[in-house]
Amino acid sequence: MKKNGLESSLLSVHSDFKKNSLTHDEIGDNHYFSGIETPMVASAFDKTDEEKIDTIQFHFKKIMETLGLDLNDDSLKGTPSRVAKMYVNELFNGLNPSAKPKIALFENKYQYNEMLVEKNIEFYSNCEHHFVPFYGKAHLAYISSGKVIGLSKLNRVVNYFSKRPQVQERLTIQIAKELQQILDTDDVAIIIEAKHLCVSSRGIKDNSASTITSFYGGTFKIESVKAEFLTYISKPSSL
Ligand SMILES: [Zn+2]
Repeated sequence: MKKNGLESSLLSVHSDFKKNSLTHDEIGDNHYFSGIETPMVASAFDKTDEEKIDTIQFHFKKIMETLGLDLNDDSLKGTPSRVAKMYVNELFNGLNPSAKPKIALFENKYQYNEMLVEKNIEFYSNCEHHFVPFYGKAHLAYISSGKVIGLSKLNRVVNYFSKRPQVQERLTIQIAKELQQILDTDDVAIIIEAKHLCVSSRGIKDNSASTITSFYGGTFKIESVKAEFLTYISKPSSL
């Protein structure tokens, strides 16, 4: 598959970053990201989920104690364990490839070869620089190459990749690449609009800003096709 425009512009961001040699804090607040794959170590799955929950629980308790919180208080006592389970089983379970949704494809019997758009897919993710939520809506489209996918599976793919420490650009590309692979076509488009709590609740504290990222593969690079997709998603739903 050819490198798309977004990827190549990201690669140039990468080399600019190296030149500028930003500090870790600057990297975080600029939401820089280093690549399309989620950066993970080779030993990522040496521990079982239960072992990970135990370890996180231990360390989260230390964080709370360091902040001066009284872990004997009935309200706080269970928090380290709740947070650890929530991280491993819910918020970050998309790090584990075994959680990847199994996708069944169907033959395109109706010979429907126009654009299919699934819009307003709600997602909740967490910023990898601050570990606070970003959330919003994903709008996906594809043109069938002969296979079709169950509609709810599009939601599941979005959900899987959002359950990781993420940056919005990578989330967008990971979903796009997965759909291109499953559907065996380059003709995939995505727009994601999200609100980042690390922007609204801290740092610059801008509550009105939202961030939009996009991906246009294959036929969607043609202006008229892109425009058709944008028309569908900008129309308020009539339902
Ligand atoms: Zn952030």
